[in-house]
Amino acid sequence: MWYLHHTPWWLRALFAAGCTWQAPAQGGQVYLTFDDGPHPEATPLVLEALAAAGMQGTFFCIGKNVDRYPELYNRILAEGHAVGNHTMLHANGRHTSVEDYLLQIAQAGQRIGSNLFRPPYGQISRRQVAALRSRWPQADIVMWSVLSGDFDERKSGTYCFAQVERHLQPGGIVVFHDSTKALPRLREALPMTLQYLQSKGWQSVAMPSVSVPLV
Ligand SMILES: [Zn+2]
Repeated sequence: MWYLHHTPWWLRALFAAGCTWQAPAQGGQVYLTFDDGPHPEATPLVLEALAAAGMQGTFFCIGKNVDRYPELYNRILAEGHAVGNHTMLHANGRHTSVEDYLLQIAQAGQRIGSNLFRPPYGQISRRQVAALRSRWPQADIVMWSVLSGDFDERKSGTYCFAQVERHLQPGGIVVFHDSTKALPRLREALPMTLQYLQSKGWQSVAMPSVSVPLV
């Protein structure tokens, strides 16, 4: 698997039309995001760590997991975090027709009341971006500036934190995962990240969103 921890300008330019790679940076704001939940072990761990640090995050949820763990989905909202749509079954844009891709977003949209959308695997074609934007003009397609790599079983939590430390700037968007696969690294890297943000005087805030779902 090939990936970059920091997305360079040329990669962003490929997706330039209508994707968010950075967000407002007022007052040292950054955006920690958590994909693939809700998850019975990882999501509470994240919620407790964020609450202890007095910070907020954005959770890109899979529709199927919202059905499995509705109480965790509601807890995310009740604790003041933002949610986003991550498709119904974690569709890979590369292997999914435009029609099926929109269908999976609409199914997740019936469960997730948000205009934020993150493509699973970061895989979305220009045609899919265009179709999504035309059907849902309110959609904000959120990519990232820093990939922690917590999904990578070859890496350690310390290594994932080091990527954050190296690449994160105010306004940056960091990807973590509240999933079984990422848990061993998340458990280590998230507390280190929160402590680092505090040492820099930076604050993780929820991504701006509107509760107009993609249905
Ligand atoms: Zn995902």
